Amino acid sequence: MAKLGIEAIAEILEARSFLDKKEEQVSRILLDSRQYSSAAGVIFFALRGKRHNGHDHIRELIEKGVRNFVVEKIPSPQPVGVNFLQVHHALAALQKLARHIRMRSSARIVAITGSNGKTVVKEWLSQMLQSQYKVCRSPKSYNSQIGVPLSVWELEDHHQLGVFEAGISQPGEMARLQEVLHPQLGIFTNIGSAHAENFRNAQQKIAEKLKLFEAVEALVYQKNDTFLSKEIEAFAHEREIELLSWSYLDDSADLFVAERSSIEGATRFHLQMNGEDVYLDLPFSDEASQQNAMHALRMALHLKMPLESLRSSMSQLQAVEMRLQMKMGNNGNLIINDAYNSDLESLRIALHFLENHGVNQDRVLILSDMLQSGLEPAVLNERMSEIIARFSLKKVIGIGPNLYEQGLKVTVPTDLYPDTESFLSHIYRYNWSNTALLLKGARSFRFEKISQRLEQKSHETRLNIYLDRMVGNLNYFRRLLSPQTGIMAMVKAFSYGSGSTEIAHLLQFHGVDYLGVAYTDEGVELRKAGVNLPILVLNPERSSLEDLVTYRLEPEIYSFSRLEEFVETLSRLGVSESFPIHLKIETGMHRLGFTEDQLPELVQRLKNLPQLTLASVFSHLAAADDPDQRDFSQGQIAQFEKMTARLRKKLGGNFKRHLCNSSGILNYPEAHFDMVRLGISLYGIGSNEEAARHLKVVSELKASVSQLKKLQPGDSVSYGRHFIADKETTIAVVSIGYADGFRRSLSNGVGEVAIAGKRYPVVGNVCMDMIMVDVTGSTVAEGDEVEIFGASISVNELAAKMNTIPYELFTGIGRRVKRVYFME
Ligand SMILES: *Cc1c(COP(=O)(O)O)cnc(C)c1O
Repeated sequence: MAKLGIEAIAEILEARSFLDKKEEQVSRILLDSRQYSSAAGVIFFALRGKRHNGHDHIRELIEKGVRNFVVEKIPSPQPVGVNFLQVHHALAALQKLARHIRMRSSARIVAITGSNGKTVVKEWLSQMLQSQYKVCRSPKSYNSQIGVPLSVWELEDHHQLGVFEAGISQPGEMARLQEVLHPQLGIFTNIGSAHAENFRNAQQKIAEKLKLFEAVEALVYQKNDTFLSKEIEAFAHEREIELLSWSYLDDSADLFVAERSSIEGATRFHLQMNGEDVYLDLPFSDEASQQNAMHALRMALHLKMPLESLRSSMSQLQAVEMRLQMKMGNNGNLIINDAYNSDLESLRIALHFLENHGVNQDRVLILSDMLQSGLEPAVLNERMSEIIARFSLKKVIGIGPNLYEQGLKVTVPTDLYPDTESFLSHIYRYNWSNTALLLKGARSFRFEKISQRLEQKSHETRLNIYLDRMVGNLNYFRRLLSPQTGIMAMVKAFSYGSGSTEIAHLLQFHGVDYLGVAYTDEGVELRKAGVNLPILVLNPERSSLEDLVTYRLEPEIYSFSRLEEFVETLSRLGVSESFPIHLKIETGMHRLGFTEDQLPELVQRLKNLPQLTLASVFSHLAAADDPDQRDFSQGQIAQFEKMTARLRKKLGGNFKRHLCNSSGILNYPEAHFDMVRLGISLYGIGSNEEAARHLKVVSELKASVSQLKKLQPGDSVSYGRHFIADKETTIAVVSIGYADGFRRSLSNGVGEVAIAGKRYPVVGNVCMDMIMVDVTGSTVAEGDEVEIFGASISVNELAAKMNTIPYELFTGIGRRVKRVYFME
């Protein structure tokens, strides 16, 4: 992490500067106002994106205490007491600052590019080098126009090597990354056919990527007879770059893989280098891992790492696990488990995640010593303390000899233990309830033992929810919508079965405009969990109106009686200022809503009700997913336009209009109006082919094998004896039943499950808590994971077999099924 005075930064950026606080020291870069955690030492770069404009958040950040801003335009009137550096282009300024940090560092830089494997090669190379070098590497997969400068910002005086990855999505980008990184050494991993959209062809893509290596001394590549290999050689010869080759095929390569043998998930390499035979082991056996390991190895050899050290580090390489896992624990606790190889940047990211998901809970960090950071223990503890101090926590528990001896310099109460076992033997002392716990431990500390102790012991059936997929789905819709169109995310019915508060927090974090729920109680739960977005309640029951007002929820008003009741509630509670309401109008669904002939009276009444603000007027499409009903849907759209035009004329045009659900968004782009209500597609179901290709189902339903049983001919299975074995048969009893949403109509061969990717039919009747499947002749074992839907069996297929639609399948998953969240 660099540290610079604001005047120095102004000079580096050649900015027009307006400095009210010349003494400010900057140590942290903020690019996204949602990532704000504390103001100390922060400089905010107001970047402009397609959807976001950093300039819109300047005032909010000033209120929070941020003092330093790099802007393209100074807000007017100009706020006082803060520093503004005005530049032509904020992103270019960020890159320029990073380039300055890079050029003053004496570290040698290894840059990695290619279509696949960049992150793994970076992690593995760093692991291989750690015993001899102080290495700075980019956090996670920070490899973009923004990610690379942020990575470089982490370079410090003591670093001897920087290992950074660089990725591009369009021509012109690599030259800028080359300027920021100015690498002396390079690795080109490979070239794939993916993401070619912005490139004319593979040749252009390769040429563009090679620009990263314009000024390197040496370059690692896989030597073979591919086009890529030839291009790299030509490029290097022209510039007198030393080629560092490895190969499976060509024994003239510096590092020749004579043989690879895979045994039980591991690989033994027989290598030839400088005429010597060398044997090395890798704890992975897949093709991609083998290739990644060879790239890293070739570079490590060039950097003079001793063979003995490489032999040991290569045999211990870890999977690059970037998942944050979130689970419900006992007493309403939330447990966030971060298994990522612990380092300072990942600590910061995980603390952010804790802050965003444990909003109204006490937050506790359980942290182990960090291994392999390349820093002296005292310096490392200081850095950890600095990061921890930026977040508001109730308690920190430090585990490991280093933390135990050195302690942390933070003001929150801290308990220290020399090892995980000694913490576990004291865990009974902690009485956590309504707490969000972040577990952040290096692998060797075995923190999974802690999470097992804290987890709910419910039956093993669970719904895994992959939050990144939901973000991907949301972004797909963002690209479809014009920037003026708002998004209301529908989180009714326990977020279509995926769990309400976690999903709502995620959506809030990713900037949706509104949330929609069916009943008041659902909205109250979100408010209690700290969700601040405006929330529309579709069907506010009379008895819940007080709660609705108390918790600042916004009612759908669909009839005169609802309107009266609501006005009465407001006056009873003494609310006299503008309370937002949403009118539902009838255009063809024939469910709730005012009809056209009621509009004159409605207008009359609303004019006399200043305590209400008409926030929006909306209606609902009855058959947006059905191409045969196009005429009907277009009729609904026309009717909606006509009715809202009348309301605008009489009431003014300040209200928002919205009509489309997921299918409406996809099939009627002309009807997006001011906002859309996104439901099922957020969870990954798309009603046309194009959308179905881009969207990912966010959840997977899993159970496990409770018992295996051998049947003799004539034995029967389950209630009613509908299955009779006609030969020796093995059945697996699986921990899911109709109480979990696995319908009884799936009995007797209608339903199937998948175990290790293979399908097995249900035999006999589905019970309340269990099913039996025929696994005769398989290697299925007790405790095996069973997929109900997921990678092998799609939601659409299972819903069809249950004679229903994905909506009902999702919302019918029992509440006792544990929801487990994953995040990259
Ligand atoms: C549920 C609901 C939606 C979302 O519908 P999807 O088909 O899931 O996108 C939109 N509007 C209203 C009024 C709803 O009740």
